[in-house]
Amino acid sequence: MARYKDSVCKLCRREKEKLFLKGQKCFTEKCPIENKNYPPGQHGVSRRTKISEYGIQLREKQKIKRIYGLLETQFRNYFYKANKQKGITGENLVKLLERRLDNVVFRLGFASSRKQARQLIRHRHFSVNNGIVDIPSFIVSPGDIVQIREKSKKLDAIHDSLKRIKDSTYSWLSVDKAALAGTFVEVPERADIPLNANEQLVVELYSK
Ligand code: SF4
Repeated sequence: MARYKDSVCKLCRREKEKLFLKGQKCFTEKCPIENKNYPPGQHGVSRRTKISEYGIQLREKQKIKRIYGLLETQFRNYFYKANKQKGITGENLVKLLERRLDNVVFRLGFASSRKQARQLIRHRHFSVNNGIVDIPSFIVSPGDIVQIREKSKKLDAIHDSLKRIKDSTYSWLSVDKAALAGTFVEVPERADIPLNANEQLVVELYSK
């Protein structure tokens, strides 16, 4: 499957804000946004700032897509699914993205970034309801228990990441640090999801 292989920090610089794609580095002074907050490339500093309505919608779409680490086709497919569901399409879209297993593993604190979560999942370190799941896009449902497999419980990457979080900081998740397991209690409301983005702009963009 195609993957983005360039520096992910460039993606943050393009959006001119932290998208927290690199784990621990994002919280240190080494984050390039701290001292190079302009788009990458030769004309990054001088690039004109006036942006069209289409440009604003496009940038918002790119931002959300990059935060969740998706390629265009994958992201658009989530939009189509969201559009078919009852309710507000933009909210449905964000809720669907939140239910991806890589996102849930990241939010539970078992990985320092969604990218790392994807890698750990692909390497078969997690189970859902006692069954091994190695598909990062697996959609988690209310009541599902995400657990680190017995053979993986000593992985440094997971323990380093867990040190960062005190307790579950999200109301829709519960973490049992001792058992290295977490429960996806319910689908969160949009207002509870810490995503600084306007998903309605994505709906407008794809509805053109
Ligand atoms: Fe973005 Fe993190 Fe890189 Fe900073 S360190 S630019 S927040 S990915």
